Amino acid sequence: MASFLFFFVSFSLIFMSLRAEGPGTKPSFQWPIQGLDLPGLITSTFGESRKDHFHNGLDISSVFQPVRSLEKGFVLYSRYAEDNPFEEERGSGNIVWIAHNEGYISGYYHLAGSRHENIRNKREVEAGDIVGVSGNTGHSTGGHLHFVLGKDYGKTLLDPLQFLPPIEDKIPPQIANMFIHVGETYTNINDGDNINVSKAFPLTISIIDAGVKNSQRRGIRDVEYIFNGEALKKTSFNSIHFDKGKWKTANGYSFDDLFFKDRYLAGVLNLKTGENIIKVIASDFSGQKSERSFSVNVTRISSGN
Ligand SMILES: [Zn+2]
Repeated sequence: MASFLFFFVSFSLIFMSLRAEGPGTKPSFQWPIQGLDLPGLITSTFGESRKDHFHNGLDISSVFQPVRSLEKGFVLYSRYAEDNPFEEERGSGNIVWIAHNEGYISGYYHLAGSRHENIRNKREVEAGDIVGVSGNTGHSTGGHLHFVLGKDYGKTLLDPLQFLPPIEDKIPPQIANMFIHVGETYTNINDGDNINVSKAFPLTISIIDAGVKNSQRRGIRDVEYIFNGEALKKTSFNSIHFDKGKWKTANGYSFDDLFFKDRYLAGVLNLKTGENIIKVIASDFSGQKSERSFSVNVTRISSGN
C-alpha cells in the first residue's frame, strides 16, 4: 500500500499542471464498459472486504470488451506484461491510468493483450475513447474489469458509482447472520439466543447486496450499528483516503475497524448480563435500506481471564 501511495504522490508532483479548472463541481463520467446489461454485471462494489484491505474499485464482469475512458484526459501511465516478458505477473495485470481535470484519475486493471493504439500513439483521450480491452490478467478469477476512480491524484479513492449514470438496483441489502468470534473459531448467534461470555469478543455480521444474479454478492454503501440503544458506529463506504499509514473512510474508520475475518465488524462488544440488542442498518449504492436487530441474552458472565 505504501508503494501504491508513493506512485501517486510522485505523479502528483509531476502533473500539477492539471489543476482545478473550476469550482469543484461533481463531474459526470461515462461507464468504461458500454452496450452491455450492466445491472447484472457489477460483481463487486467499492469498499468491500478483500481479506485485509478495502476493495478500491468497481468490478464489471466482462472479457474482451472495449474499455473506455471515463472522461477526457491524458494517459498518465500504462504497464503491460509485454514490457517485461521475464518479470513475474503483477496482481493488477495490465493497467492503464488516465488523468482527468480537477485532479481526478481513473485506472483500468486486468486488461487483455497489448496496448491499444490510442494509448500507444496518443497522449490525450476523449471521454469514451477506447483505452484497452477487458481481460483476466494478474490476480483475477474470471474475466472482469476492475476500475478505480481517484481524486487528489490518488490520495483519495472514490466509489465510482456516485459519478456514473445510475444503474438499476431494486434489491435491498441482506443482513443475514451475526457471529461471535472466539480466537480462530466463530459461532452463529441466532436472534434470541442465550450465550455465556467471559469478556468482550468480536461480533460480525454477514451483509451482502445481492444483484439480479446469484453471483452478485456485493458490499454495501453505508452501515450503522446501534448497541443497546446507543449509537456505536456509522460509516459510509463512499470514499477512502490515506491517513497516517492507513486507508480510512471519510468517517475516520480503517479497514480493521470495519471488517473482521471478511465480515462486517459490529465491534468488540462488552455484552451486559441480560438482554443485549444489536441493531444493524445497511444501505446499498442505490439507497435501498435494510435493518435488522439481533437480541442476545447473556445468562451468565463467568469470571474468565
Ligand atoms: Zn476489483
